[in-house]
Amino acid sequence: MKNEKLISKEGFSYKFNPEACKDCEGNCCIGESGYIWVTPQDIKNIAAFLNIDEELFKSTFLIKVGYKYSLKEKPYKNGYACIFFENGCKIYPVRPNQCRTFPFWDYYKDKIEELKKECPGIIEDGE
Ligand code: SF4
Ligand code: SF4
Repeated sequence: MKNEKLISKEGFSYKFNPEACKDCEGNCCIGESGYIWVTPQDIKNIAAFLNIDEELFKSTFLIKVGYKYSLKEKPYKNGYACIFFENGCKIYPVRPNQCRTFPFWDYYKDKIEELKKECPGIIEDGE
């Protein structure tokens, strides 16, 4: 069946079907521990969305790693979940750039099999 809504990005040899998110548990927000980097602009946007002071947002929801900030995680099933994951993303309209650009990360350009295990919305070119 032809799907008109596939998303592609130049330089990537796969496409993404956003419809897959409906039936996915949110694999990109749960699983092994990892960093969910937030930029200074993300911090401003999320704090405003939550209607809390930026400093309070940082101390409550972020961990500092070197000079960068990541969203905290919480235990979830046999692994971890992003602190804002609860039957989906609680800050979806202002989710960090890292989340917004998934699955088109340079990291996955040559690791499509690894990506396909995580995200059911990946369709390799030629499939
Ligand atoms: S892993 Fe893929 S299909 Fe699942 S929620 Fe994330 S982007 Fe959507
Ligand atoms: S901010 Fe939202 S989209 Fe990003 S990892 Fe957390 S729950 Fe998932």
